[in-house]
Amino acid sequence: MRLADYTTVRLGGPARAFVRAETERELIDAVRTADAAAEPVLILGGGSNLVVSDEGFDGTVIQVATRGVSRDGGPGVLTAAAGEDWDAVVARSVAEGLAGLECLSGIPGLAGATPIQNVGAYGQEVSETITGVRVYDRATGDVSQLPNERCGFGYRTSRFRGADRFVVLSVTFDLAVQVLSAPVRYAELAAALGVSPGGQVESAEARAAVIELRQRKGMVIDPADPDTRSVGSFFVNPVLDPPALAAVEAAARARCGPDTRVPRFEVSGSGDGQVKVPAAWLIERAGFGKGYNPGDGARISAKHTLALVNAGTASTSALLALAREIRDGVRDTFGVSLTPEPVLIGVTL
Ligand SMILES: Cc1cc2nc3c(=O)[nH]c(=O)nc-3n(C[C@H](O)[C@H](O)[C@H](O)COP(=O)(O)OP(=O)(O)OC[C@H]3O[C@@H](n4cnc5c(N)ncnc54)[C@H](O)[C@@H]3O)c2cc1C
Repeated sequence: MRLADYTTVRLGGPARAFVRAETERELIDAVRTADAAAEPVLILGGGSNLVVSDEGFDGTVIQVATRGVSRDGGPGVLTAAAGEDWDAVVARSVAEGLAGLECLSGIPGLAGATPIQNVGAYGQEVSETITGVRVYDRATGDVSQLPNERCGFGYRTSRFRGADRFVVLSVTFDLAVQVLSAPVRYAELAAALGVSPGGQVESAEARAAVIELRQRKGMVIDPADPDTRSVGSFFVNPVLDPPALAAVEAAARARCGPDTRVPRFEVSGSGDGQVKVPAAWLIERAGFGKGYNPGDGARISAKHTLALVNAGTASTSALLALAREIRDGVRDTFGVSLTPEPVLIGVTL
């Protein structure tokens, strides 16, 4: 088998061993067995945030295929097994009159991966509604429930990201019991829904609008659309402090004209003036537009500057060469170092 068959970007060489775990017992046993043999382990969800080397993975890939959604613990409480399809969980929450996940519609992958990078989109993040993450701890061999405050959530990060200690078994959310969505914070979504930022619509309406916006950007997997053969956003939006933002503004005015305004979003909870600047804006102004194609099989999506796609004949090394070209171009133009969003296996940028 090749891991290319298990990743949304359709890249990645072979794995030495591959185990599919359909129950929590099988998942824990597979990890325990590999750990006892000092065998490297890669936990595989939907493969939508993974860039795997062309040489593959010299260890055991454990595919999470556990199932089950329960509604115990309170009126808005929903617990999803790690192997549940994420979008199906969101669809169910909306259908059952729960609000808080609707803006996270259309994101590929499995429920168990959502805490890893604190999945977020259109003004919502899972960390706002997760109350606990049940984990198998590879350091102690115990199963425990980590409450939200012990998950180390931040913008596209958590204590799980980049650390192999915990295997997520299930995720519990506490959602608002209401037909209306949570207040719509994201300006583009609010405009699409015809409400002011902070307004509310029915959750089902918000979900439909999010999916439509995402489809237009190639951000919903569609096997017929090569622009969706990606890992989603390849780079995280950089968070800049005031001096770094001033330097970017000066570089932007020098490059794009004196009236140029660098777009920015406030970073919630940051009291020290930090802002998030859209990586896509920086990439475009550095000269890499939608559809940019250096010609070796990897290109920028024709629909979204942040998505690097495998046009069909790419290799992981071609994808990374493109990512390096973009990263270096943005650094040379704006002095900002973009960092990759996906998890890189056996490769570095
Ligand atoms: C078209 C597209 C659009 C996307 N849009 C968004 C978006 O809007 N917002 C966003 O945040 N992300 C987005 N992503 C990224 C991705 O979908 C999410 O990060 C998703 O949560 C990854 O889930 P997965 O099951 O595919 O994880 P995988 O890619 O299989 O794994 C990702 C990482 O999580 C680890 N992991 C997976 N499951 C477990 C587990 N049970 N226990 C421990 N570790 C685990 C893996 O080892 C790996 O390190 C997008 C991706 C694509 C392809």
